Amino acid sequence: MLKTKMEVELNRQVNFELESSYLYLSMAYDMENKGFEGFAAWFAKQAKEEFGHATRFMKFIGEMDGKVKLEPIAAVRQEWNSPKDAFEDTLMHEKLVTEKIYALVELANETKDYPAQNMLKWFVDEQVEEEDTARKVLEKLKKVETHPAGLYAMDAQLGKRAGNND
Ligand code: MG
Repeated sequence: MLKTKMEVELNRQVNFELESSYLYLSMAYDMENKGFEGFAAWFAKQAKEEFGHATRFMKFIGEMDGKVKLEPIAAVRQEWNSPKDAFEDTLMHEKLVTEKIYALVELANETKDYPAQNMLKWFVDEQVEEEDTARKVLEKLKKVETHPAGLYAMDAQLGKRAGNND
């Protein structure tokens, strides 16, 4: 059985994962508008992944006999100056997600919630990967910032990766 505080916090996380999905979807369409189809595809895939994270939390709440409560999703930013700007936002956002996951882990530890501790392990690993990916793309974007050919090569590269089911 879920303790009330954990149920509240997990529902908050569901909302935040949906907001994350919304944010990346917004980036995807902004990138598409700006002619970066590869970056657009990458962000669209990222949006789907975030929806998947929300689903994982909802499934767990249900399995623990809790109640999923869907709240309104906050409005997100709609425009970015460049792919680099979008990835700076992505890295910042993922760091925030990591903080929230760690807070959930701390709550699970304090309340000796063993099922939640186990479930959250996947998210701890996932955040290492998410931050690493965003940081690496951002580093490359900083290098090609003023070189359109390099930027479009990256657009093609990221578009290709988005097509894989990894
Ligand atoms: Mg997530």
